[in-house]
Amino acid sequence: MNVFAYIGEYLINIPEHQNSEDLTERSGYTEITEIPKHTLEIVFLGTGNAFSMANRYWGSILLNERILLDASPIVVPHMKHLNRDFSKLEYIFLTHFHADHFFGLPFLFLDFAYLQTLGHPLNIIGPTKVEEKITHVTNLGFSGVIEKLKNRLKINYFEVTQAGTYNVSGLKFTAIPMDHAGTEAYGYRIPVGDKTVAYTGDTDLCAGVFELAAKTDILIIELSNPHDDVPGHMSLQKIQKLRERLSPDVQIILNHVGLISGEITQDKNLILPKDLDVLEF
Ligand SMILES: [Zn+2]
Ligand SMILES: [Zn+2]
Repeated sequence: MNVFAYIGEYLINIPEHQNSEDLTERSGYTEITEIPKHTLEIVFLGTGNAFSMANRYWGSILLNERILLDASPIVVPHMKHLNRDFSKLEYIFLTHFHADHFFGLPFLFLDFAYLQTLGHPLNIIGPTKVEEKITHVTNLGFSGVIEKLKNRLKINYFEVTQAGTYNVSGLKFTAIPMDHAGTEAYGYRIPVGDKTVAYTGDTDLCAGVFELAAKTDILIIELSNPHDDVPGHMSLQKIQKLRERLSPDVQIILNHVGLISGEITQDKNLILPKDLDVLEF
């Protein structure tokens, strides 16, 4: 058995029979292998559906501390729990306006109004009337916070109304309509680090999901109703269909997960994270 040690960015393989004296004398013997650097960190702040079952809070995902995918009410408490840096946040992508996907914003704004500072604008991207809906819900929850924020934080709202590739403050991403039982909803494909992440939000299995997944390294997709065929949502059966039709190179990560009876076989192409899990690629 060999002993492995991390020194800086390198993994050093130390054969068991060698002691440290040997290494000093025969440094040329040590095998040094460069470890590939991770360029993408995915933090699962919440992984549950709207009913928040089985110890899963409402789904929200943080990419490299810079990009937030949906803003559920668990965002602020779980970012604090994991010591994530609020000042790095630059983009929030909202897939649609169900409460489990954007009712975290009044709490986030409250934090930015009193506790956190951001040295750059915050870009919020979402479907039709994104600014109006967020302002309305924030005014209902904490009156005065939007006013107070004006002196502390510049927010750029960007409305997505159709499929397309957009450039918001230098970030080029693709938006594709999803099938969420009649609700206006978009999935997004976003370059992060040296990977591309596609995120469906809530959806049924539809052409848009395949379009989103065709050009991505990682697909984060919902599993609201694991064992039932509910229109506008995914089930395990639909995930299976998707897996069979996608290239094996596409990593599927399940999110917005309902109650699962039994085990899900996870492999390198199908991952079921829990709340507060951090994955690196
Ligand atoms: Zn939802
Ligand atoms: Zn929804």
